[in-house]
This record gives sequence, structure tokens and C-alpha cells, in this order.
Amino acid sequence: MFKRQTLIAWLALVAISVMPFSALAQTQIKLHSNKYSVQDDVKLGRQAAQEAESQFPLLRDEEVRNYVESVGRRLVGSIPREFQHPEFAYYFKVVNARDINAFALPGGPMYVNRGMIEAARTEGEMAGVMAHEISHVALRHGTAQASKGQKYSILGGIAGIAGTILGGPGVGQLAQAPFAVYLLKFSREYENEADILGAQIMAQAGYNPRDLANMFRTIEQQGGGGGGFLSDHPSPSDRYARINREAESLRVNNSGYRESRDFARVQERLRGSGSAPTMAEIQRSGQRNPVGEQTGNYPSNPPSGRVAYPSSRYQSVSIFNGGVNVRVPSNWRQVNEGNAVWFVPEGAYGQANGQAVYTHGASFGVAQTNSRNLQSATQDLINSFAQGNNNLRTSGGYQRSSLSGRTALVSTLTNVNEATGRPEIIRLITTQLRNGQLFYMVAVAPQNERGFENAFNQILRSLRIND
Ligand SMILES: [Zn+2]
Repeated sequence: MFKRQTLIAWLALVAISVMPFSALAQTQIKLHSNKYSVQDDVKLGRQAAQEAESQFPLLRDEEVRNYVESVGRRLVGSIPREFQHPEFAYYFKVVNARDINAFALPGGPMYVNRGMIEAARTEGEMAGVMAHEISHVALRHGTAQASKGQKYSILGGIAGIAGTILGGPGVGQLAQAPFAVYLLKFSREYENEADILGAQIMAQAGYNPRDLANMFRTIEQQGGGGGGFLSDHPSPSDRYARINREAESLRVNNSGYRESRDFARVQERLRGSGSAPTMAEIQRSGQRNPVGEQTGNYPSNPPSGRVAYPSSRYQSVSIFNGGVNVRVPSNWRQVNEGNAVWFVPEGAYGQANGQAVYTHGASFGVAQTNSRNLQSATQDLINSFAQGNNNLRTSGGYQRSSLSGRTALVSTLTNVNEATGRPEIIRLITTQLRNGQLFYMVAVAPQNERGFENAFNQILRSLRIND
């Protein structure tokens, strides 16, 4: 209910905003230009969903899941025709996590945290967050933002697209907080659009569009969600006002949602089943990631360089948000450093002169280069490696090879290891991604140690790029 003062403020606000127009009309939203196809959205979302579901514990409760799915269906059925993509497959799953959050992936997969359902005061508030997320998907914001491309140009390629859609930071930081990967970071313009379209979808589905605004208040009252929905969605007070303003122009469809006991029943069910872990707790337990993320936790001492031989057993790992799948020796661990992902045996990594140093292992990365020609792009990359590394030399020319079914170049480099002072051989394998960016693998081992050749070859053969 409005307080009197608020009502007066509202009338003033509405009066100002309608002045130039004869009638108050709902805001028209247009699709942004997008160089990706609708199929790209579907494909990217599918990859990311696979990754998400390997990391998040889904709530195995059919009643709750069916309920959330039914609310989602009602909202999807209310997306304006111009933003409906028949290729998209919306579905809704509940993550058994306490944080107040929800996220949707391109093409339609959507995940609602149990904490979000428990925090909402009404079905309308829960539906509001879902309608907002659905709007990002329907408006293809992920690939639209990736189309602009400037923001994450270093990461580019698969990693860049995934990074842009799924989170702000670079791949290294993404891995640092695997769950934050899925928290969408969009520009303010896109957030506003998702609020406006979300409100329109709400009204068409029979919900009060103001419940989307109310949910911001509810989340704030409950402590802001601790890294959840609000922190990814800035300036709640502006948005509160804007959504309510839009609501003025919307007519709630009377043949849509009817209030029922369903929401209350589901909440009781959840509250009666113990408390869910937080995302951070899930991440720490780390059971679902066979390799284990080790980010930034380098031993502060230099690597000893004394390492075990690569295991003959291999494990499959998915990196760059599912953009690359590879098999690595099971006694190697994953270390994320900046934009690169390393797989190394114990004893092969540490720090020297304040920098991360590796003596044995393989790393993967994506580089933005100015050249569309594989050979000159590779030379650019080698030049960038050589900066600040006076001992790095190329040894011989390029060898043609193949990687994941595409043309690749193999370059051999020599170096003196910064930590051990021993000469080492670096093999660099490069290939181009569909968008022209350079994907590379670096394999490093001391010159006099031959036991790693076989492991590097196995890794190379197993590598699959899905760009
Ligand atoms: Zn958003």
C-alpha cells in the first residue's frame, strides 16, 4: 500500500514523465545487434549448463522442481512474440544452495537457488527474479554483449564469450570462484531492459509487475544476498522506481496466475528439510571437481623441480567453461594463473622473484592477436612471451601439425628456468579458433628429462575444442 507522501511523489513523477505524450505507453524494447546466431546462444548455453551442473548440487525434489518449472513455463509463455525464439529451450532447475541467487544461460537453461525461493515473500517476488533472468535470455544479452567484444578482448574466443556471458573477470579469476562464473554481469542498459521486459512478462503472466521491484527490497532486508542477485545487479533504488513506473503502464492479465497455496507449501517443504550449504561451502568441499581448483595459492617458495613421473592414468577435464576438453595425467593438478590454466605435478610450481614459475607441465590459453594468419599470430605470441624473458629462444622453425581436427603449428623454444637455473624445452602448439583468435598449449619440461614427452603427446591427442 502506498503512503500518502509516496503517492504524491508518484503522481508528480508520472506527470513529468507523461507530459510530452498523450497516453502512458509501455516501454518499447529493441533487440541489440548481435553477430552471433540464435544457434550460438543455444550451443553456448548448453555447454555452460553442462559445466554448471557438474559443479552445483541440484535439489532432487520433484515437487519443488515441478513447481518452479510451472512458474517458469507461465513466464516463458508470456514473452512478447518478437522476443520468442523457437530454438530456445527454457528449463528450470533448483540449486541446493542458501545464497539468494538465480541465473539463466543463453538459450534458456535457468537455475534458481533454493535460498531465493526461501527468501521471497510471495510467488510473485520469486517469479519477478525469474522474469528478469528470462528477459536477459530472450533479449540475447549474453551474445549481444559479446558482439561488442572490446571488454574481454585478451581472453577472446571461447573463453571470452563464455566470460562475457557468464561473468566479468578473466578466466583465471573465473576459476577462482567457479560459482561466480554464472553470475551475469551486464551493462546497466541491459539490466534496465531486463527489468522492463521482466515487468511486462510479469503482467502478461498475471503477476503484479511491482513484485519484481519488491523482491529487491526483500533481498536487501535479508542482508543483500551476500554476493548474490543484488550485487550483480547494481543500484536497487533506481530500479525499484523504474520498475514501478513501468508497472503504471501495464495491465495485469486476469486470466493468468491465480494466487494459491503452492508457494507456501513449497517454502514449508524447503524450510523443513534442513539448511542448504552456501555456494562458498559447496566450493570448498570441492567434491565435484576431480582436479580441484588451485588458484593463486602457489607455494611461496620456488618449485623444487623434483617431480613424480606422469601417471599412466588420465582424467578428463573441462576448462574455459566447457570450451575445451582435455585428458591429463591423474597425478597432475590444475592451477589457474591469470588467463592461463596449468596442469602440473606436485613440486613443479611455485614462485621466484615474485612470479609464478613452472618446471614441468602443460598450460592452455587464448590470445587476441592482430593477425589472422596462424604463423604470424604465433610469432606475435612468442614475442609477447619473450618480453621480460631474456633467455627464451626459438629453436628451429614451425612444424605443421593438427590439433582437435584443425591445422596447428608446433614451435620449439628453449629457456633457462627462472627457479632452478636448468635449461628447459618449451613446446608451443597453436591453432586458430573460429573467430580468428589464437588458442595455445605450452608444454614445459627440463631439457634432460624425456619422461614427459609421452604425456604431452597424449594430452595433445585428447584435446577437443568446442568453439
Ligand atoms: Zn540482470
